[in-house]
Amino acid sequence: MQWFEPYPLYISIMAFFILFLSIVLLKKPNNFVRILLSVILILSSLFMISTAIELYIDDFNGMQWLRNIQQIALFLCPVFLFGFAREIAEPNAEKSIKYMTYLGVPSVIGVILLFTNPIHHWMRSSVTTQTVWGLTEISITPTALGIIFISYLLFLTLLAVFTFIRNMHDLPSHLRTSHLLSSIAILLPLLSLCLLSSLSVKIPGQIALSFSMMSVLLIFIFKRYDFNSIWPVSRNKILESLDEGILLFGPKYNLLEINQAGYQLLKRWMPHLQENIIIGQRLDQLFTDRRIMEGVYQHISTSFEWKIELGDEDVYLQVNIVPIGYYGRDIMLVVLTDITEKKLIENRLYTLAHYDSLTNICNRHSFIEKYNAMMENKEISVSFLLMDIDHFKQFNDQYGHIVGDQVLKEFAVALTEFFMSAKYFSIVGRIGGEEFGVLLRKDAGQAGEQANLFQQKLTEHSIFVNGEQQEKITVSIGLTTTYEPISFEKMYKEADKALYQAKRAGRDRVEMINA
Ligand code: GH3
Ligand code: MG
Ligand code: MG
Repeated sequence: MQWFEPYPLYISIMAFFILFLSIVLLKKPNNFVRILLSVILILSSLFMISTAIELYIDDFNGMQWLRNIQQIALFLCPVFLFGFAREIAEPNAEKSIKYMTYLGVPSVIGVILLFTNPIHHWMRSSVTTQTVWGLTEISITPTALGIIFISYLLFLTLLAVFTFIRNMHDLPSHLRTSHLLSSIAILLPLLSLCLLSSLSVKIPGQIALSFSMMSVLLIFIFKRYDFNSIWPVSRNKILESLDEGILLFGPKYNLLEINQAGYQLLKRWMPHLQENIIIGQRLDQLFTDRRIMEGVYQHISTSFEWKIELGDEDVYLQVNIVPIGYYGRDIMLVVLTDITEKKLIENRLYTLAHYDSLTNICNRHSFIEKYNAMMENKEISVSFLLMDIDHFKQFNDQYGHIVGDQVLKEFAVALTEFFMSAKYFSIVGRIGGEEFGVLLRKDAGQAGEQANLFQQKLTEHSIFVNGEQQEKITVSIGLTTTYEPISFEKMYKEADKALYQAKRAGRDRVEMINA
């Protein structure tokens, strides 16, 4: 036979063309649907090449072997077609692989039985040749078991079609067309068999011809509608370059897509998470935060800060949840932004603004804020103790400022320890220099008692200077109590008067003035 015999030549050219496209499909970005389509195309081209060679050669044994090779493609293709349809309908690689494995078992058994048919003759009752259009090909009469296996393949093909059609009702019109065309493409080999045999028309390598049409149609649909990939290539690149973690959850709350940043963030609290098994995981396997669950399950748009405690470090994430309609189905977009650094700076700024950097207790500003809050709450009685360390200048002059600072720190600790335990304690703060303030929810009598007790405690407290030398400090206290809301300035003025009296009266004492 001439090598340029037009019909087998056409089938060969189509086979190589489809093989080429199947390899192109395996390029990045890797996507399970693309891989499945690529496998379908590889099997189709294998089928077509072996059919073309079968038509070219005249050696019976060789033709029989080629026919068997065709059966590998014929038996496996429907399994992958089903996986392809399933993955488009509900992307979940793990599940699809599981179903394909189960459904593929009879196909593999069928192939093995076909290859061993010369021994047992269970699948084929006769193998002869027939010549159509001057081309010789193998003609097979299947046994009952062979027909059962062929029926199984038809069943798988119809299952793939059903999987496509089942989802059509909630798809927009342009996608409906793509699903319909895909179903027709898958059915082509089947339809051509039925149609041609009912018209009693014989075409050599008829299945190879319909396979070539099916493959071309599937590639056309895939390229034209690109319904297989939520993210086209360029968007995928953009997503991968983002610092924000982007996660997409499908209608059954399984993870459909995640970018590298998202994966790295999840790994913060799930260090053993593996990248290759993350797609398809359920929302509750990845997150424990109630607000994320609620947002995603209830399909609501929401945004909040999420603090994750990881041993000795805290991670702060800004979480944005947005429902996005994707071809009629609700897909939930979860965006995670790492705001830990910003949050730590914020916390630091807050501390600097509200706490005294030497003693770590409230500074004058936040002390006044807290006082004002108490006044707004209309507390029944509020007492203010204004304290000033006695002869502190001398202390500084004698031991130096560094030791003076140390004393201020120790004094703040003593003050906090004493008044923290006091019932109705409110706040201690450093008003400025060696001047401290205490707010108590107590009347004048009770507050005076506390002030005296503190002074007494201070006399028992020795301060170590330069390692060993012990010094004592005393403090003068001006006390004022108010039973109605008044401004801090007024309160301070009264307490300062009382403090002045205490100093004048010889220091180390409490003086009281009612505001
Ligand atoms: P008295 O209150 O008993 O009348 O005498 P005093 O010596 O404590 O009073 P004065 O207000 O004259 O002096 C306060 C001193 O406190 C002056 C200053 O050197 C010291 N001082 C203020 N702030 C600091 C500080 O942050 N660190 C140190 N080491 N000393 C401080
Ligand atoms: Mg002073
Ligand atoms: Mg002083």
